[in-house]
Amino acid sequence: MSRTYPRVGVRHGWLTVVTATLLLAFITSPGVIRAQPPQTLDIYWIDVEGGAATLVVTPQGESVLMDAGWPRPDFRDTERIQAAMRDAGITTIDYLLISHFHTDHVGGLPQLAERVPIGQVIDHGDSVEQDGEAGLALWRSYEAVADGRRRTVEPGDKLPLRRMEFSFIAAHRQLAESPERRRPNSRCDTATAPAVDDGENGHSLGYVLSLGAFQFLNMGDLTPDREYALACPENRLGVVDLWQVPHHGGYGAIRPELAGALEPTVAVINNGPRKGGTPESLASVHATPGVGDVWQSHRALSDAEAMNTDARLIANLTEEEDCEGHWIKATVQADGRAWTMTNARTGYSRNYQSK
Ligand SMILES: [Zn+2]
Ligand SMILES: [Zn+2]
Repeated sequence: MSRTYPRVGVRHGWLTVVTATLLLAFITSPGVIRAQPPQTLDIYWIDVEGGAATLVVTPQGESVLMDAGWPRPDFRDTERIQAAMRDAGITTIDYLLISHFHTDHVGGLPQLAERVPIGQVIDHGDSVEQDGEAGLALWRSYEAVADGRRRTVEPGDKLPLRRMEFSFIAAHRQLAESPERRRPNSRCDTATAPAVDDGENGHSLGYVLSLGAFQFLNMGDLTPDREYALACPENRLGVVDLWQVPHHGGYGAIRPELAGALEPTVAVINNGPRKGGTPESLASVHATPGVGDVWQSHRALSDAEAMNTDARLIANLTEEEDCEGHWIKATVQADGRAWTMTNARTGYSRNYQSK
């Protein structure tokens, strides 16, 4: 579970002795605290070309990955996940969450499981789309990987991470009550409830991760009717600092009565070049009160060119065939007071304060 860091190679015997002596002196001197590498909470939005794979690595080195990207015989998405794991200094995934049973989220799981040791596998319940051939095949391949280590969660359930709270707010169309997060929401006065979506998207897992003042919300592909129910008649989620925009910022992905109530400082859209990141969703995110910056996994290349965010906040600019698969990374201070967003393509970063 703990992180591994590159070790300095010591080739000469005498140096080994000196190093060992110094180390022993260091460890045995009273009052000396062991030197540690900087410990942060790291969140990676791994580019799986319009699918999803969001990796969380805690300051204690515990890891949570939600979703595994597309099925790829060339292991493209698995290798991109492994690259982020190497960057974070981890070799295993402790908790693998599948938000819902669609191919852009669970399709890559068999390949990931072939290459990466996985602890617990967590879901919202059985797939509700087993009646079609493709849906059934996805479900069966999931069952094969999850067998013997599967956990189905309900809203309010938590992951037992150290020194932070990881709480599920949505699962299988059920939503968290969490009275301590509830706030009145005047945006509901003029809002009308959207049509119900009974498919897998509407059954998506969602979670809030809290570290001190810092709050991160990831809602998978949760649908407008569930967003509305989270927002009205009262906002059940309170405010957050960092918000993964649901459903890749696709058509109708954002309900303003929820987005406005969340007041996110930063929004991240895990879109592909031609999947998600639609003009109206990008416009809604930019128009959301409180949103300072919008970061995108990809420049949207279809019909949203004019709505793309500042290119410095976009991790990938090209079509899928030419894409190098850069991630966006959030590095959160261990006390949760502040965090940095980094674009892996350029190294460009910006700093933010938690609310
Ligand atoms: Zn999706
Ligand atoms: Zn890409």
